[in-house]
Amino acid sequence: MRYPQRAPQAGLPEYVTVYEVGPRDGLQNESALVPTAAKVEFVRRLIAAGLTTIEATSFVHPGWVPQLADAGELLEALDLTGPVALPVLVPNERGLDRALEAGVGTIAIFGSATDTFARKNLNRSFDEQFAMFEPTVKRARAHGLEVRAYVSMCFGDPWEGDVPVAQVVQAGRRLLDLGASQLSIGDSIGVGTPGHVKELLAAFVDAGTALDALAVHFHDTYGQALANAYAALEAGVRTFDASAGGLGGCPYAPGATGNLATEDLVWMLHGLGIDTGVDLDSLIETSVWMAQVLGRPAPSGVVRALAPR
Ligand code: MG
Repeated sequence: MRYPQRAPQAGLPEYVTVYEVGPRDGLQNESALVPTAAKVEFVRRLIAAGLTTIEATSFVHPGWVPQLADAGELLEALDLTGPVALPVLVPNERGLDRALEAGVGTIAIFGSATDTFARKNLNRSFDEQFAMFEPTVKRARAHGLEVRAYVSMCFGDPWEGDVPVAQVVQAGRRLLDLGASQLSIGDSIGVGTPGHVKELLAAFVDAGTALDALAVHFHDTYGQALANAYAALEAGVRTFDASAGGLGGCPYAPGATGNLATEDLVWMLHGLGIDTGVDLDSLIETSVWMAQVLGRPAPSGVVRALAPR
């Protein structure tokens, strides 16, 4: 069976946007260097599979993420003026300089809902991170760039444990108020559950946030990613982060599975009668090919079920 039987549900949309993170969030956790040519082919295959937004790479310091040290070279090989959006993660103003030089149309910044992770990942306190991002976002907006803000550790933090909903909303609101047009709410360690998702989204709405400014970024570490995505869909979210094949581990939960697989998300959405523009067969072929490049099978259940043997 290559396609889910369609069973549309009242109240759900006809279309949702899949925000593909495989080339950046997926590959950044791979220790073996993937050749730039393979990354170029990966992005081109994802475009051909119908994905409309693909986070291509990151301008973090190459010392931190050697896997993405070829960001400039990769972007030169891609068409940044085409209809497919190719956002790039940018940690600071130096990264923004490189993004502007490359002709990037959307940047993403990466904030934290907790103080401990802000200190570990950004070397800033919870409050200091917003001041750190401010000049980058301001200057990006002045150049006409769109800004997406990630907020991480929204459903639990490996050092702090529970993360108060009000604290997540405060972090997200402050990132949006800097000038970000989209906020991606991240469950970095995959511990969230559907009721928690609905509670957090309701708190964002109560704080005056438009649902179309929100995206969700789930990890399948505890097997909750798809249930959480469905909860977010029911709550009115229309942009979902996912990684082709389920590519990408979680560096804070060793041995754990990582990103929600794009194929698994698309299978569910198509079963609900929701269009994504994605050609599932062609996406699966891409993930099978990337698994060969990486030398191990894709974690996605749908890829495992449907990959040619
Ligand atoms: Mg992720």
